[in-house]
Amino acid sequence: TPPLPDLKALVRTVPDFPASGILFRDVTTLMADGAGLAGAIDALADLAAGLHVDAVAGIEARGFIFGAALAQKLGTGFVPLRKAGKLPVPTMGEDYALEYGEARLELDPAIIRTGHSVLLVDDLLATGGTALAGAQLLRRAGAQCTHAMFVIDLPDLGGMAALHEQGIEGRAVMA
Ligand code: 5GP
Repeated sequence: TPPLPDLKALVRTVPDFPASGILFRDVTTLMADGAGLAGAIDALADLAAGLHVDAVAGIEARGFIFGAALAQKLGTGFVPLRKAGKLPVPTMGEDYALEYGEARLELDPAIIRTGHSVLLVDDLLATGGTALAGAQLLRRAGAQCTHAMFVIDLPDLGGMAALHEQGIEGRAVMA
């Protein structure tokens, strides 16, 4: 078997994006590496081991890449949580605050089955605002959302605690 890739080393850190003073963790370098992508998906699947998962929901856009691959691996369908204005059908929406400004996630509630357990996936957890908006949306549409998974957690920003307060257990491949 090939050696396990150093997933952390495949994440590129970009200074001053999207604003001065911010260190952006760029996962495109991890995704572009075959062993890195496979290793990240395997690690997410390990984090999901033993959980009952009816569907995986991913947050646009990087959450789609990891979430869809995880769904395929777990044998479930994939639910996209989209940015505003993209879906061609009536949606449910959830507005939330970003560090600078506001954002909105939208969901087609027709693809959610009442009571199904939906595992939320995104590339990175910072304050938790985005993931909480996604979980809220899934819950309003009738799903259960008790677990959320990330490739990266930035632990200083308190996202895991914010999720826990809303009854969501967060897990991450790396901090
Ligand atoms: P939060 O809402 O938890 O504060 O921020 C997380 C959201 O912003 C995620 O959707 C994530 O994709 C994006 N994000 C924030 N900071 C970074 C970063 O440094 N790197 C990447 N890849 N995404 C980030």
